[in-house]
Amino acid sequence: MKILAITNQKGGVGKTTTCVNLAASLANLGKRVLLIDLDPQGNASTGSGVDKAHLKSSIYHVLIGAKSLKDVVVSSERGGFDIAPSNRELAGAEVELVNELARENRLKVAIAKLAGTYDMVLLDCPPALNLVTVNALTAANAVMIPMQCEYYALEGLSDLVNTIKKVRAHLNPTLEIEGLLRTLFDSRNMLSQQVSAQLISHFGEKVYKTVIPRNIRLAEAPSYGLPVLNYDKSSKGAVAYLELAREIITKEITGKEKKHG
Ligand code: ATP
Ligand code: MG
Repeated sequence: MKILAITNQKGGVGKTTTCVNLAASLANLGKRVLLIDLDPQGNASTGSGVDKAHLKSSIYHVLIGAKSLKDVVVSSERGGFDIAPSNRELAGAEVELVNELARENRLKVAIAKLAGTYDMVLLDCPPALNLVTVNALTAANAVMIPMQCEYYALEGLSDLVNTIKKVRAHLNPTLEIEGLLRTLFDSRNMLSQQVSAQLISHFGEKVYKTVIPRNIRLAEAPSYGLPVLNYDKSSKGAVAYLELAREIITKEITGKEKKHG
């Protein structure tokens, strides 16, 4: 079971858009996918067609230890994947967990109980390096960092990389940065091109080959509670996320081959 944390403490870089559309694309390619919404904003829940205002239970209840993950999971029927939804209640978890033991391990333990149920688990992180994000990094075996190719893109990256290093040292020794994803990309913009070239020169193979273009369909689809694949499957955004899903599946296969000789 691959557990991929989609994270960047910078807001609005396309984390949630990537989670919802990658989940739908992986499902479309036959993978059993669970998306876990770890943001009190609940955007991944809404975008997957789940009404976050009327949840009986959510990921908040899992993190505080009141429910098991399988009891809060619902289906994104049109998306073809499962989702553990979230809403504003999650904002309280941070405070409630402060004095708890093994508070960084809550999500990891919860996901472990679902072994065998899913091929891929995607974790939609909030725009913060907080305890919930640390839970995601502790539970994950790989990290994807969506980035907008603009001037300040690289600025926050060292804080994120340092957090990942700390988590690796203390909580999750096998955590890997799988890749950096260029999002909201405008190929006519010279600065985007320059930042993109800079990313490749710093991070080489770690930059996903697939680029996610700025595409209005990707911004419209959530207002219908749909992944873009169900909204306009021939749009550039839909095509790009399917391509990303294929790239990730291929990475997974070649990674396993390398490990097993
Ligand atoms: P936050 O940090 O608040 O959780 P985020 O990193 O999850 O934000 P999104 O919510 O995915 O970012 O995207 C921010 C905004 O940009 C949203 O309105 C979304 O619809 C839009 N958006 C994201 N990706 C694209 C894209 N490739 N093309 C056009 N619009 C996009
Ligand atoms: Mg988000």
